[in-house]
Amino acid sequence: MMRRVAVLGSTGSIGRNTLEVIASHPDRLQLVGVAARSRVEELAQQIDRFHPSLVSVWDEEKARALARVTTRREILTGPEGLTALATHPDVDIVVVATVGHEALLPLVRAIQAGKRIALASKELLVMAGELLMRLVQEHGTSLIPIDSEHAALFQCLQGVVTSQVARLTVTGSGGPLWGKSAAEMEAATREEVLAHPKWRMGPKITVDSATLMNKGLEVIEARWLFQLPLERFRVVIHPEAVVHALVELVDGTCLAQMSPCDMRLPIQYALSFPERWESARPRLEITQLGALRFYDPDLERFPCLRLALEAARMGGSACIVLNGANDTAVRAYLDGQIPLRDIPRVIAETLEQHAVVPHPSLDEILQVDAWSRHTAQELMHQWSPR
Ligand code: MG
Repeated sequence: MMRRVAVLGSTGSIGRNTLEVIASHPDRLQLVGVAARSRVEELAQQIDRFHPSLVSVWDEEKARALARVTTRREILTGPEGLTALATHPDVDIVVVATVGHEALLPLVRAIQAGKRIALASKELLVMAGELLMRLVQEHGTSLIPIDSEHAALFQCLQGVVTSQVARLTVTGSGGPLWGKSAAEMEAATREEVLAHPKWRMGPKITVDSATLMNKGLEVIEARWLFQLPLERFRVVIHPEAVVHALVELVDGTCLAQMSPCDMRLPIQYALSFPERWESARPRLEITQLGALRFYDPDLERFPCLRLALEAARMGGSACIVLNGANDTAVRAYLDGQIPLRDIPRVIAETLEQHAVVPHPSLDEILQVDAWSRHTAQELMHQWSPR
């Protein structure tokens, strides 16, 4: 049976890889919707190649620019455009791969419409994990993770019940600054920070990898996805990035998922689940791997990871603040407004000013998110008055 797919964020790194997977299974997958923020030229090429019936561009002006370079007349825009794609009757699977938090509402609507969700955007589970998983259950649909570590856990957990799980380990390569001295970290240029050793990704997530915030966000996501208490999760640095996650069972057995660093594998599985389809991707050649190393992360040198685990322990709306403040600070870093070391400072001070809301509603989530971004911005202005 043909599975009809809409991709929110089709011109980003995950979006482009998703389209490659769809192109490699023309008998099983059909691209019926694409949404992008601003890369109009690339979106036009995707439209020419896949002929999706639904097209959405976040920004009105960019939508007009797209209209000038395609023959496509009907172009949706804004949050309504994303929601229209996410809930359309012709769509079976919604791939959520946007950067940022704008897809939260469309995601909620997609779940309510009973769509299968393939989720790559990590901020959404960090902000609204409790609410989203409750909705997934209420509407009897499934949310399948695309992020490599969560996809690995998801695969290891097939056929395992929660009571059999002792511990879940999320691995991380350590990012571009792992193994550098404090002085080298301090002196790292933006180019060095943006040069990830293992994965090619967008700039925001690459900075999060350098600060290890990415691993913190992944633990927060994982505890919602797999419905286990925070104490059962562990972060381990694994520079070779071959083992993407481990599941330790109560009897002491440890299951690991290993694969090459190629996002098309977890994307394909999210689309094929519960089936497995052939792929022409490079295979793991285990005799070529050499030694695999695993280390505990240093929470002193990577305070963003410590802050993420603290926010997770605080629970409720704390993770929304963590995410909003981090996103704001990372953008300021990418714009050259603050040094890397100020990112955890912005997050810590924003968290300090926040009174935690225990089980935030959708409205409260959006309010706290806006508040945290505003507060983080204000703090940075106070530090460097212009
Ligand atoms: Mg990851």
